[in-house]
Amino acid sequence: MALNLIMLGPPGAGKGTQAEQFAASRGIPKISTGDMLRQAVHDGTSIGLRAKATIARGELVEDDVMIGIVRDRLAQADARAGFVLDGFPRTVAQAGALDEMMVLRDSLIIVEIVVEEAELVRRLSTRLVCDECGATAHGFGVGVERRTACRNCGGGLVQRSDDDDKVVRERLRIYQRQTKPLVEYYQGRPTFRSVDGLQAPDRVAADLAAAIASAGEGVAP
Ligand code: AMP
Repeated sequence: MALNLIMLGPPGAGKGTQAEQFAASRGIPKISTGDMLRQAVHDGTSIGLRAKATIARGELVEDDVMIGIVRDRLAQADARAGFVLDGFPRTVAQAGALDEMMVLRDSLIIVEIVVEEAELVRRLSTRLVCDECGATAHGFGVGVERRTACRNCGGGLVQRSDDDDKVVRERLRIYQRQTKPLVEYYQGRPTFRSVDGLQAPDRVAADLAAAIASAGEGVAP
């Protein structure tokens, strides 16, 4: 049975890091719409050119664009055995479209990572990303010596332009308004779980694996 997983949660909750690790451990692709859009901006594709200013403002790219990107990606062969979606869906319209894409596929497992807002602001404002491989590093800023090279690949670490304080606040506001309603959309399903994202990353990973295993028991064969 395919493991079709969605990671829900606000920016800075640790979705990307956890999704990456979990997907690698199961040999299924991690599909991050944020990474795909940043790549499109970098490559100067038509979607990238249209999305660039929206991303910079911390707003959401149009639903039809995002739904098209994800539909194409999920149709690729490597997603047949399962996938981990990170950053999609972000609106109820996207969630509805994803449900339609799942007709004839195994049910979605939905895990929400819960982290309070003050901690999200702290994490995002001290986050650096590798400009080569996209890996995340923490420790930028007050009282912590700044690391300059990526632990993964030795690439340069930079702050994501949308991790700027003002944009972070806008992203969190948009999360509350447009993405948080997805918890209500999904929480009645037998395959919905929540995990405490305030714990150390290893603990979050262990809880996540346990949540996915128990939710998997709710997936009809
Ligand atoms: P992320 O890396 O997931 O924080 O995404 C970075 C930015 O890309 C977001 O702030 C949005 O502007 C855009 N984005 C990523 N995924 C979506 C989505 N599913 N719907 C709309 N916009 C998105």
